[in-house]
Amino acid sequence: MAGIYIHIPFCKQACYYCDFHFSTLPGQREAMVTAILSELEMQKGYLQNETINTIYFGGGTPSILTSGELGNILEGINKNFSIAKNPEITLEANPDDLSLKKLQELFQLGINRLSIGVQTFHPELLKYLNRAHDEHEAIHCILMARKVGFEKINIDLIYNIKSDQHQSLRYDLTKIMELKPEHISAYSLTIEPNTVFGNWKKKGKIKEVKDEYAARQFELVAEVLEENGYEQYEISNFAQDQKYSQHNSNYWKQVKYLGVGPSAHSFDGLSRQYNVANNAQYLKSISSGNIPATKEILDRKTLVNEHIMLGLRTMWGCDLELLKTKYEFDLIHQNENLVDGMFNKGLIKLEKDRLLLTKKGKLLADEITAELLWV
Ligand code: SF4
Repeated sequence: MAGIYIHIPFCKQACYYCDFHFSTLPGQREAMVTAILSELEMQKGYLQNETINTIYFGGGTPSILTSGELGNILEGINKNFSIAKNPEITLEANPDDLSLKKLQELFQLGINRLSIGVQTFHPELLKYLNRAHDEHEAIHCILMARKVGFEKINIDLIYNIKSDQHQSLRYDLTKIMELKPEHISAYSLTIEPNTVFGNWKKKGKIKEVKDEYAARQFELVAEVLEENGYEQYEISNFAQDQKYSQHNSNYWKQVKYLGVGPSAHSFDGLSRQYNVANNAQYLKSISSGNIPATKEILDRKTLVNEHIMLGLRTMWGCDLELLKTKYEFDLIHQNENLVDGMFNKGLIKLEKDRLLLTKKGKLLADEITAELLWV
């Protein structure tokens, strides 16, 4: 069992908070699809005959591609890899790309999960974030996707956009509840240095919201979603009826995956490799028959730390038995006093052989994880 991630590095315009790899020059689109098809062929041995159960188109904005282009990439994946019977096939999509016709075509291609970049339903906040869509397009595309037959819809939400926004976050959550998506990814806005917001922050035009305020927004999201039957199966991800993102769950469980396209990462269980995050360099290298990737061999300590970092974020927790048997690492024994202190403060709990964050602990997830890492 393994996954394939395809990175489509184009966007209509740059959202002011975004530091993913993308270009707003669509001129290289056709060449990029051709290069991705070539890379799929070149990488066909990477997953060593694993069966692929998840395919994920991410970006950038994959919904910028035509259905024909997405279909060609799916064909390329089918040609080079062994695919499970009913794979989860996710497309990240922006509301302004989703007409009824496009949604029907995507559905016919076998795409069965849409992850829609809504972020907020407030017109002024959408403008502030420099999103390309408006709130009507967001609502309309979700209603249309339902009509077409999509049964797995994720809505991306951003909170902590500004201070004094509890009211508007409640409004966003109410709107989401009306639309009843199966899955919600809710992220706190972080201001990254190489973004427009990063630049504004440097100039003193904006500030990051205060920690206590951010914590309250996080609690509000979790409270409202839990009340409405969503399970917080990962710190930032909520699902109804166990409709978890299989693809992302596999990342958190350290399942192997192949990433294709500029800036995509891959993991084969022992090493990680990173494709160059530059469209021109990627195209040039692929056209000369070379995969432009940097490889990092993961030692025991790195694999242990990745397991702690990823596991603690999820409801499956950090598997203490696996750490012992696979990596000969006894997390509790190594950190006895620290772990005792965290238990006493009600930050962590044990369920069978798994270490989990409590509700209180989730508010301090990064700090707790940092303390438990093998240094
Ligand atoms: S559409 Fe997505 S990837 Fe593109 S700039 Fe906005 S947030 Fe980033």
